[in-house]
Amino acid sequence: MNIKNYINGEYVNPVSDSWIDNYNPSNGEIYGQIPNSINEDVENGYKAAKNAFLSWSETSLDERSKIMSKIAQLITEKLPELAAAEAKDNGKPLHVAKSIDIPRAAANFQFFANAITQFASEAHESVGHNAINFTLRQPIGVVGCISPWNLPLYLFTWKIAPAIAAGNCVVAKPSEITPMTAYLLGEILTEAGLPKGVLNIVHGLGTTTGQAIVAHPGIKAISFTGGTQTGAHIAKVAAPMFKKLSLELGGKNPAIIFADCDYDEMLQTTVRSSFANQGQICLCGSRIFVEASMYQKFKIDFIAAVSKLKVGNPFDTSTDIGALVSRPHLEKVKKYIDNAAQYGGKVIFGGATVSVDNSEDGYYLEPTIIEVQDNSCTLNQEEIFGPVVTIMPFNDENEVLAMANDVSYGLSATLWTNDLKRTMRVSKQIQAGIVWVNTWLLRDLRTPFGGVKNSGVGREGGFEALRFFTEPKNICIKYN
Ligand code: NDP
Repeated sequence: MNIKNYINGEYVNPVSDSWIDNYNPSNGEIYGQIPNSINEDVENGYKAAKNAFLSWSETSLDERSKIMSKIAQLITEKLPELAAAEAKDNGKPLHVAKSIDIPRAAANFQFFANAITQFASEAHESVGHNAINFTLRQPIGVVGCISPWNLPLYLFTWKIAPAIAAGNCVVAKPSEITPMTAYLLGEILTEAGLPKGVLNIVHGLGTTTGQAIVAHPGIKAISFTGGTQTGAHIAKVAAPMFKKLSLELGGKNPAIIFADCDYDEMLQTTVRSSFANQGQICLCGSRIFVEASMYQKFKIDFIAAVSKLKVGNPFDTSTDIGALVSRPHLEKVKKYIDNAAQYGGKVIFGGATVSVDNSEDGYYLEPTIIEVQDNSCTLNQEEIFGPVVTIMPFNDENEVLAMANDVSYGLSATLWTNDLKRTMRVSKQIQAGIVWVNTWLLRDLRTPFGGVKNSGVGREGGFEALRFFTEPKNICIKYN
């Protein structure tokens, strides 16, 4: 099946009529093709967005909100079809797409449909000067949204929804590796009555299509989620044009487990935070630090719990771990495992590729646990982004805090303890944008989301996203 770009409310072929193969990770087969879009396609998307901007930015908040709620409703109605497309395109278990990815895509639209009606700006009375200042929050114009392959529709809509809610028009690119649900979104946008040109979806390679969006002089802001290296490149291209940038990048997140935690809940959640979505979530806890007094017990129980996870075809209801997203990604992850000794660790569980019946050419890998001795090793410093975690013991709070922070990333951290004072001490000192205590991935869409250090700059989520997608203007009025 060939998918198309969605420009000015219409599905269109790429200008060059050049295409890229789309793979099914569960069996390695090519099952369709996607547009290999070039500058002209991005330019067409930009022109459509620019033409739509004046009218969309003046569309009442009620009307914008109504259309976005309709998009949310249609995503929910089409959940089975969208979830199946996501599982096939990405390799994730169908039940994960059904319970997490697609509901969240609908929630993103519904949340910002509501949030925009509550978004307000500040006023400052200049007492003694007979003047009042107020801040107008105006949409930026045409903005670019670029998203990765791990949570395809979930992260695509996480950017698009606040962008259009705030009155911008968008040129968006999903990952070339998982384009399918973004493609299907086009017909939903049309059915919901989103005016032509408000959202334009251009498919293609990061280095051509993505690059064209970032380098386009008329696209004034870029919201990007993806790898740190790509983020650094995007920042370089965008900086001389003084574009507004929001960069949500990689992570190497610590899970810190103290002996006073609720053990069973911790164990169950740590299995999930390590291997959900094949470990391909930027928020997964990939470095597990366990208080020495219970390290041996944890190690035995963790291995036992992980050994129960079933690797299988995404469409098999008993599957816990589906296929990795692509062959190159599988090979990258496998390289870390195969070189574990050289990289400072010892594989104590898993590590092998898996042959799944009737899907022998799929990209399956066992959930893998590697024991490390020193946080400075490669396995604890580099993002692997697969079903691989490291474990190591620690002796006290200061030691573990130092290790948790001794990494170039700072996206999220998970802390397991019932000591309130320690919770506060560690949470305050940990270098991360998000800290979960006695839970993981509990998301409230009103909260600021983003990382520090090499995990990115800027915050999205809630009003932070609406602030990013608007330009504040101060208006000062003097009166007698
Ligand atoms: P990439 O950085 O490779 O790609 C992300 C997106 O950017 C894709 O759409 C890609 O297109 C595009 N792209 C690639 N090169 C360029 C370029 N030069 N200019 C513009 N766009 C470009 O990341 P992955 O897709 O591999 O995603 C995995 C990464 O994303 C991990 O590091 C993960 O930690 C991070 N991530 C961060 C999250 C966060 O919230 N902080 C959440 C989820 C993931 P194409 O795919 O076609 O190459």
